[in-house]
Amino acid sequence: KKGILAIVGRPNVGKSTVFNRLIGERKSIVEDTPGVTRDRIYGTVEWLTREFQLIDTGGIQIEDQPFQQEIQMQVEIAIEEADCILFLVNGRDGVTSDDQFIARMLQRSNKPIILGVNKIDDHSLSYNLYDFYSLGVGDPIAVSGVHGIGIGDILDKAVALM
Ligand code: GDP
Ligand code: MG
Repeated sequence: KKGILAIVGRPNVGKSTVFNRLIGERKSIVEDTPGVTRDRIYGTVEWLTREFQLIDTGGIQIEDQPFQQEIQMQVEIAIEEADCILFLVNGRDGVTSDDQFIARMLQRSNKPIILGVNKIDDHSLSYNLYDFYSLGVGDPIAVSGVHGIGIGDILDKAVALM
């Protein structure tokens, strides 16, 4: 059975961007309706000799739900389905109450967690990393989905944890 790595995090932290980096190709699902492009949710990742499945839970839309409830359901799906969870936050925003909300849900699960601090596009921003220790979900990894920073570190850790 292939292991499953699920990406969780509040909207706009860069889940889809990092997802595309992790699967190493730029693809999105184009619906039949003209002009409608949805994020791709599933992908396969190959790293070293391993292969695993990737899910972007942010792409799972749950209709008519208030914001926190939608995130809560996405995190519940991740906790249920995944062997390892990539929790993404935005290194430029600092720790938000929604990040803390997600962190508490993840702490209650017994799933291994990788904490990715995205949008650390260059070294001058890495001081922002230290705030995220307060989430209590492990050591933050500096990531830039746009520049491809930290992607190998995430994959190494995922392979070690699954
Ligand atoms: P999602 O809602 O979590 O899936 O976030 P997206 O992947 O759609 O990204 C939201 C916005 O953040 C987009 O404008 C991205 O281009 C931008 N973004 C994503 N990753 C990075 C990054 O590493 N650095 C910067 N500067 N912007 C990023
Ligand atoms: Mg997205």
